[in-house]
Amino acid sequence: METLEFLKHFFPNGGTILPDSGHVRSTGYKTHHALNGLTRYIDYKCEFTPSGNCKKREDKTCCCGGCYHRCGYLENIFYKDLEKIAALFKEKTGFWSEKGCTLPREMRSTTCLGMHCTTLKEPERQLLALIGKGEIALEMYYTFFDCAGQGVIPHLENRLKKRLKK
Ligand code: SF4
Ligand code: SF4
Repeated sequence: METLEFLKHFFPNGGTILPDSGHVRSTGYKTHHALNGLTRYIDYKCEFTPSGNCKKREDKTCCCGGCYHRCGYLENIFYKDLEKIAALFKEKTGFWSEKGCTLPREMRSTTCLGMHCTTLKEPERQLLALIGKGEIALEMYYTFFDCAGQGVIPHLENRLKKRLKK
């Protein structure tokens, strides 16, 4: 969809465009993307049909069912991502496609990343809680584990990988 068309849906839904120097839940662009990207380690245990549809979509209970009407539950979009996000947004289905969500994880809303219909492991839940709270939680994590110099995201990634193996 054209960017302007997308904005006609996004703004009435309460959406905000952030400057690239802005923050989502006090998390800056780079950290926000990196943190969201760590959800690639989460096994949401989604169940899809051979054609790629969520099995629960067929009885209208799929967590992505309202994607078009809620613009993927996005509240804030960084200006840098706007064009890409708008281009992926489709009339009627939003970001949903037969193969699942077309939005890269880095750009998905906290609501979408936090949704799951099965049980998650404790480290997976902790990661989602951290994403939901943003930079304040990250700063606390950073201080608590004293990972200065190493970079909080790689440190977090290593710990997550180890804990998910258990
Ligand atoms: S988390 Fe959402 S997409 Fe995945 S199986 Fe459950 S309802 Fe379907
Ligand atoms: S996960 Fe993707 S397809 Fe599902 S509601 Fe969110 S943005 Fe839409």
